[in-house]
Amino acid sequence: GRTREARHMKIAVAGAGVVGLASAAGFAELGHTAICVDIDKEKIASLQRGVVPYYEPGLQELTLRNMAAGRMRFGTGIHEIPADTEVVIMAVGTPSDPDGDLSLTAFWAAADELADWIEKCACPAVVVAVKSTVPVGTADSLEEKLRMRLPPSESGRVDTASVPEFMREGSAVKDFFEPARLIIGSASAQTAERLTSLHAGLPGRVIFTDRRSAELSKLAANAFLAVKISFSNEVAVLCEQIGADYNDVAGVLGSDPRIGPHFLGAGLGFGGSCLPKDTRALVRFAERSGAPQTLVEAAIHVNRQRTERIAHKLEEALDNPGASTIALLGLAFKAGTDDMREAPSVRLMEELMRRFPGMELRAYDPASTEAARGIVPGQVRICRSAEEALRGADGAILVTEWPEFGKIRAIDFRNWMKRPIIWDGRNLLDADELNAHGVRCIGTGRPILR
Ligand code: NAD
Repeated sequence: GRTREARHMKIAVAGAGVVGLASAAGFAELGHTAICVDIDKEKIASLQRGVVPYYEPGLQELTLRNMAAGRMRFGTGIHEIPADTEVVIMAVGTPSDPDGDLSLTAFWAAADELADWIEKCACPAVVVAVKSTVPVGTADSLEEKLRMRLPPSESGRVDTASVPEFMREGSAVKDFFEPARLIIGSASAQTAERLTSLHAGLPGRVIFTDRRSAELSKLAANAFLAVKISFSNEVAVLCEQIGADYNDVAGVLGSDPRIGPHFLGAGLGFGGSCLPKDTRALVRFAERSGAPQTLVEAAIHVNRQRTERIAHKLEEALDNPGASTIALLGLAFKAGTDDMREAPSVRLMEELMRRFPGMELRAYDPASTEAARGIVPGQVRICRSAEEALRGADGAILVTEWPEFGKIRAIDFRNWMKRPIIWDGRNLLDADELNAHGVRCIGTGRPILR
């Protein structure tokens, strides 16, 4: 499909989160005309002023450029979508509900508005492509719901598809333009063709499938990554117990092309807005479907033990943890983002406060200072620099792999801290170098030097 001349289309994106916005701006850059709508009026007002309310490399420029070119604009709801729109992309949020299922409250509310829109506007044919991560069967149900609102003779005016999204926060724009693959899940050849031409100009193999397989592949892909991370973390614990070096073990594992080098890092476990909620959702959905995913369940269990493990390591190294001041370097669930959703840092702080009442905690993150307020427990002091967090501390935990932490020199740690001891939860620091210069650096899955 991609060699064919691209046909420029009028599209709409419902939801101006990172996914919706990056997709709208990305499709506009490919030449399509996009309106991105969101019920969050503040977000839309900010975007209309040309201010992207996320820390996302390149998204601000991409949005401004396409607004200026007249290919991208914003609206405060689905009712603002023009009647001649050919493709509507659903990118509203699907957070976890209290039971661990994906909450489809916002999704179905948006679907209701979409049904009103389709009923009122006489658009001859519209494809609704679901980009939100949803349980299997959602695109089927959505189609049924939308078609029910049309007279039977007109029900063919709307068709749904599943186009799951794999972009990562922190590289959403790059991932939009360089996808590893594009998945088009559809029950109709015309719909698949229209979506192929929507994506024309993007590299990466297109995988055509049915809607249910497309929906499941998104959940399964995230669950697999979670399993890979938890596997790595368990092997890392074994390394600590027996005096092996997980960095070397991971190097061996990763050089096998059947395993691959990614997601083998040992650390504080997975977090963020997708992996935890999508793995939980798969487990719940699979259970109900009579096909329990025991490996994925185990991966979730192992992930919960990560913060206990580091608390245990602190206990071993500190004389009186309850009277210590500990600095956390990093709060965001990974570098390159200010996202704090299900960040391991939060679990870690809660665990430390529960286990060591009286411990004084400070934290510094280069990006998520604002996002952290309200999420981080009140007793934790949020600092404005790594130096401020480290000054006078009895120890530090490296939580997020921000490159700037790798640049702190041994002499700085020694000068700033009361006791220069660091638990490197990401294996970012050069432990040998630091240990040689009077800083005790305890890595993850590495032999412990005493
Ligand atoms: P988000 O929660 O940041 O944004 C969703 C937006 O939808 C919000 O701004 C909300 O106001 C808006 N919204 C809710 N109801 C609406 C309605 N009726 N009409 C218009 N807008 C409405 O979510 P996100 O992180 O951008 O993720 C969106 C979806 O994509 C989720 O299902 C997520 O699981 C999936 N996903 C996310 C990522 C990621 O890295 N964040 C990656 C792949 C897939």
